[in-house]
Amino acid sequence: MSVMKKRIKHNTILSILVLFITSLGGAQEFDILIKGGSVIDSKNDLNGILDVAIKDGKIARVGDNIPDNLATSVISAKGFLVCPGLIDIHSHNFHGTEPNAYLSNSFTALPPDGFSFRSGVTTIVDVGGAGWKNFRTFKEQTIDRSKTRVLSFLNIIGSGMKGGAIEQNLDDMNPKLTALVAKQYPGIIVGVKLAHYSGFDWTPTERVVEAGKLANIPVMIDFGGSDPELSIEKLFMEKLRPGDIFTHAYAHVKGRIPIVDENGKVHHFAFRAQERGIIFDVGHGGGSFLFEQAIPAMEQGFKPNSISTDLHTGSMNGGMKDIINIMSKFLNMKMPIDEVIASVTWNPAKIIKRTDLGHLSIGAVADLTVLNIRKGEFGFIDTKGNKMKGDKKLECELTIREGKIVYDLNGISAPIWNE
Ligand SMILES: [Zn+2]
Repeated sequence: MSVMKKRIKHNTILSILVLFITSLGGAQEFDILIKGGSVIDSKNDLNGILDVAIKDGKIARVGDNIPDNLATSVISAKGFLVCPGLIDIHSHNFHGTEPNAYLSNSFTALPPDGFSFRSGVTTIVDVGGAGWKNFRTFKEQTIDRSKTRVLSFLNIIGSGMKGGAIEQNLDDMNPKLTALVAKQYPGIIVGVKLAHYSGFDWTPTERVVEAGKLANIPVMIDFGGSDPELSIEKLFMEKLRPGDIFTHAYAHVKGRIPIVDENGKVHHFAFRAQERGIIFDVGHGGGSFLFEQAIPAMEQGFKPNSISTDLHTGSMNGGMKDIINIMSKFLNMKMPIDEVIASVTWNPAKIIKRTDLGHLSIGAVADLTVLNIRKGEFGFIDTKGNKMKGDKKLECELTIREGKIVYDLNGISAPIWNE
């Protein structure tokens, strides 16, 4: 046989072999199998040791003892929690280079991918960075370029959260135009935001709710600053609709009374508001979470509907840090782990009417987070600089976004380097 013929024969055998191996790979029922983790999925009432299988970016099976040989890649999650990818419904991600524009196309807002996956977040909601006038810039700059799923609450201010006088301008609060743009991007624009208004005037609240009604989406309100104060009881019981969101629930800021009164008691109307369907969101931020509020509130059973960060440059290195750190605070305030997980998965999915997210149903997008609960001595700081000690701390081990591993703290999905 000539050298040439030999080479051809050799190549043919090689390609048949490659084909055979490839077809074996293709025959695998699952791409990734996460084995033996403690699965928490509030929507499907799952709370126990289960395996989760992923195929083509979707949840393919959840069950006991799914055989390893059905999957291309097997990850042991023994001792870890496995939950749907976390949803942070209060963040600021309209980053850009416009000078003096605060959280709207400027430096104080943060690019999502730098902060999301490392803290288990797969869906992040920018609340109010953009208004109807600059939403398209936000979409092109951030939403379309991020691996994180980025959603938006439009600011009722047409030009967005640019701070200062711009956010006090009633003439730039147009419910019709806000709703018009919101309706052009259903499922991406998932709400309307009002923040930082400090006048003694209900008009901004009425405008944001009107926009929410027109677009059939919830509103989120960052309330306070008015002198004299506007009544938050009236806000909860008369102005907001069930499903609307009151953020900074455990803050004590100028211009509004806090949830917990001076005697350490939760105002009765806060319970009634929550029963009425008003959503109490944490929105920790750089100035909106105090243990002197949160601890007595939690002791009296006034729990948040959603845990969120209010992420921006002014909060990320303070007491807030990331969503996992806030979840750890609530865990140490005796909130059961399944409720902590629900408040960052299925609850926020329902709040923003994206019920395709936040659960591990078969066929759902495979956004998953694997968490570790560490035991030890830890400290947590609030926005006043006060500390609460704790003995549990959550850590993000692994994040999967649409079936792809996007973060792996300790290499639980990685092969050993010399094997
Ligand atoms: Zn905020």
